[in-house]
Parts: sequence; structure tokens; C-alpha cells
Amino acid sequence: MFFIISNDKELRDDGRAFDELRPIKIEAGVLKRADGSAYLEVGGNKILASVYGPRESYIRRLLKPNTGVIRVRYNMAPFSVDDRKRPGPDRRSTEISKIAADALRPALMLESFPRSMVDVSIEVIEAEGGTRCAGITAAAVALADAGIPMKDIVVGCAAGKVNDQIVLDLSEKEDKDGQADVPIAIMPRTGEITLLQADGNLSEDEFEEALDLAMEGCRKISEIQHEALKNKYSSD
Ligand code: UDP
Repeated sequence: MFFIISNDKELRDDGRAFDELRPIKIEAGVLKRADGSAYLEVGGNKILASVYGPRESYIRRLLKPNTGVIRVRYNMAPFSVDDRKRPGPDRRSTEISKIAADALRPALMLESFPRSMVDVSIEVIEAEGGTRCAGITAAAVALADAGIPMKDIVVGCAAGKVNDQIVLDLSEKEDKDGQADVPIAIMPRTGEITLLQADGNLSEDEFEEALDLAMEGCRKISEIQHEALKNKYSSD
């Protein structure tokens, strides 16, 4: 068998180096009616995030007297995956909606908006591995586009283990065939971690390596988020 070697490590099935992201692009402010929005493509993922709010909500039990509240709905379109996805929420989308809200909340300064609600929607139009991180990344840009005061723009990225090698930004195939997946989200200015999940088996050293690599990936994607927002505001 013939392998191409890069930095003493084999190139991956899709030709990427171990520390290479899939091609990524982000556009801010793509929807007219939402308060904020963003469209993101990474590899074969196509994701649309929108934000409404802060605004009053009629669901009184969800509101808090001293701060605003963020609510996230992650949804996969029926045509976003190979086997048609049954429409509506399921266990996976409920989990991802919750962890996305938890990942975004620490960056938001919602104290100025008591008794109000920020509704974030993450629509996965096409999925190809890593949609939770990509969804969080897109949602953070949409929140910034909505003008919601934030300490930082949260960004998500995963690293994992494939063919006994720690690699950045797993594709769907790598996620399925691989040995581990570690999706994270951070506030890049401080490096504070707002999401950390791990699926599969890693030694302590491998976990550290995956975490460092995912952090590096987040920092690269953070620059693209900032570019997207600059482009939006320079064209307004
Ligand atoms: N996937 C799928 N059907 C589903 C759920 C997921 O084909 O009902 C695919 C999709 O490409 C997704 C990948 O499997 O991105 C990995 O899913 P996982 O639950 O690990 O979450 P993600 O990596 O997207 O955050």
C-alpha cells in the first residue's frame, strides 16, 4: 500500500493533513427578517442559524426576573442526511439543543435584558459530520449579528482519533469509522471551554493532544467568524 507522508503522519482519506480543517466559509446577516443570522459551510455541512430577540415571551415560566434567557433549537432537515431523517425533535436533537445553549450562554451578557428571551435556531440543511460544533459556530455569529452584547464569540470544533492518529475536524466518514471524537467549544479570547464532549476511547495523552488540536482549530475558525462579521458591516 502507498501512503503520502506529511509531518511524519499519513494524509487522511480526503487528502487532509492531521491538523487541517475542512474548507470552511461563513456569511453573516443572510436573512432579512431575523434579528441576526449566519450561514456556514464546512466540508459537506450546510447550516443556517438565526436569532430572534431579546424579546418578551409569552412562556412566562421560562423567563427570569434578573436576566435574559437563551433558548436553542437544533434541527436536521429531513433531506440533510442519506437516510431521510424523520421530521421533528428526537433524543439527539434535544441533546444538541441543550449543549448548544450551554456552550453559548457564558459569552452572552443577558443581565441587561431581564424577563426576555433570545431564541436561536440552528437548521442543518446538509450534514457531513461535526454539525454540533458547526451549529454553535454559526449561532455565535448570528448572535453577534443580532447585536446581543457578548464577552466573546464562541466557536466550536472537534478533534478525534482515526487510524490511531489524532486528527482535526472529523468528516462524517471519519466520525463513523474512527475511534474517538472530542467536540469542544471555547471563548477564544480567554480559552475558556464552554463545551466538552468525548465519544470513544482515548488515553490521557491522546485526550490532551485532541483537546490542544481542537483548540487550535477553534482559533482558526474564530478568525473566519470575525471576517464574516467585518464583511457584513463593511457592506451595510
Ligand atoms: N447523521 C446522520 N443521521 C442522523 C444523525 C447524524 O446521517 O440522524 C450523520 C451526520 O452527518 C452527522 C454525523 O452523522 O453530522 C455525526 O453525528 P453526531 O451525532 O456524531 O453529531 P455531529 O458530529 O454532527 O455533531
